[in-house]
Amino acid sequence: MSPPLLATVDVCVVGSGAAGSTAAIAAARGGARVLLIEKLPFLGGTSTAVLDTFYGFYTPGARPHKVVAGIGDEVIAALRALGPVVERPNTYGAGIGVTYLAEHLKVVWERLVELAGARILLHAFLQDAEVRDGIVETITVATKSGLRSVRARVFIDASGDADLCRFAGFAAERAGELEPAQTLTTTFRMANVDGGRRAGVTRADLHAAMATAAESGAYDLPRREGSDHVTPVSGMTATIMTRLESTAARGGEPVDITDPDFLTAVEIAGRRQALEYARFLVDRVPGYEASSLVALGTQIGVRETRRVYGDARLTRDDVLGARRFADQIGLCGAPIEDHHVGVDTTWRYLPDGAAVGIPYGTLVVRDAVNVLVAGRCFSATHDAHASVRSMAQCMAMGQAAGTAAAIAAAGSAVPREVDVAALQARLRRDGAILAVEEATPVVSVA
Ligand SMILES: Cc1cc2nc3c(=O)[nH]c(=O)nc-3n(C[C@H](O)[C@H](O)[C@H](O)COP(=O)(O)OP(=O)(O)OC[C@H]3O[C@@H](n4cnc5c(N)ncnc54)[C@H](O)[C@@H]3O)c2cc1C
Repeated sequence: MSPPLLATVDVCVVGSGAAGSTAAIAAARGGARVLLIEKLPFLGGTSTAVLDTFYGFYTPGARPHKVVAGIGDEVIAALRALGPVVERPNTYGAGIGVTYLAEHLKVVWERLVELAGARILLHAFLQDAEVRDGIVETITVATKSGLRSVRARVFIDASGDADLCRFAGFAAERAGELEPAQTLTTTFRMANVDGGRRAGVTRADLHAAMATAAESGAYDLPRREGSDHVTPVSGMTATIMTRLESTAARGGEPVDITDPDFLTAVEIAGRRQALEYARFLVDRVPGYEASSLVALGTQIGVRETRRVYGDARLTRDDVLGARRFADQIGLCGAPIEDHHVGVDTTWRYLPDGAAVGIPYGTLVVRDAVNVLVAGRCFSATHDAHASVRSMAQCMAMGQAAGTAAAIAAAGSAVPREVDVAALQARLRRDGAILAVEEATPVVSVA
């Protein structure tokens, strides 16, 4: 028997990261009654609990183009209205990054979702799904008041981990199953950094200092590169430096990244590692002498867990060949960025200025009738995912999934029956960029 009914809606979005929040906004604007379910006490997922920089809005290289707009642009405008936002070239050439204050983004997501008319449910953890003939009829969420059920015509799995698809029994590739899974990272922030002195340290200097420190045996630094960057707050930097392994080093067997014992172990080890990198920065990097660690990421950053099997699957060749698709709903020019096990990271670039299309079919769950996915659990191989997982692309996918879900919910409730040309027309009307010809060249890089 299902637990007490909490809501019956047209579209239920599970997970409120860059993908899910955008999906909820788009679906509500499309006229659907929307419920957005989130296990954390705030919206944003990785975009607020882990990070502070959007990548993927721009292609990297000498001739940058803006390839994502629509709701993503509204998010940036709303952030700017609350305080400074820093546009900066990426250390590794993934294109211009847009660095914001994560605390502001929590509020921005809430405002935009509520203004669109969607209902938000925080502290609500999806636990189960009732499925009949591929149709998800009811889901169960754990709340402080006990288990509750939610019914919807269309569901969007934006949980990052494909939790809804897993509980429903729909096929997904587990990270590490076919290719080594990406590593995990605990982010941290440092305050009272002397920006002038730090600016005199090149990337090569920083990495050389890390290698020297690690090889001396005085510091335990598993990753010998990684980056720090300026933030909108004077004297505060944020880092992507730590590395927690998810596969081979544990005897070659892939681990289940959603396993609670594994997550507990890496959360604890990640914080310990962050303190070690902070100690290294203070001791060895000019500008950090008087700085202190002021914040750890709310939770560990997980790059990949499960990728569902969709009606289409994006591949490495598609990405590196900048392939176009008739049903594409967004673009990606970001390189394949593989944070594999070991001391470094691998980068593979698309041709300068090029972008791959993101097919609508990668959002349509192959085994399901009424479920779409958006964000990092979309249908792609390991390599293709390593390119398309940037937050701007997650927003583009979210906008497409939310728009499609509203169209479907108003009709047959079968997302794969949505008229793709009509979906594309609506996305363009709402500011999305769907083809490279529509991408705008960037005149000046801030
Ligand atoms: C360390 C790290 C550094 C990165 N650096 C960058 C960067 O600088 N710039 C960039 O653009 N991208 C970066 N990425 C990639 C990017 O951040 C992610 O791919 C993207 O944010 C994923 O968004 P999402 O909405 O798909 O998933 P998530 O952000 O993971 O959101 C999923 C949401 O679902 C919720 N959820 C999960 N399960 C449940 C459940 N069962 N019930 C209810 N809620 C649930 C989660 O709490 C979360 O809010 C990085 C990723 C990592 C891990």
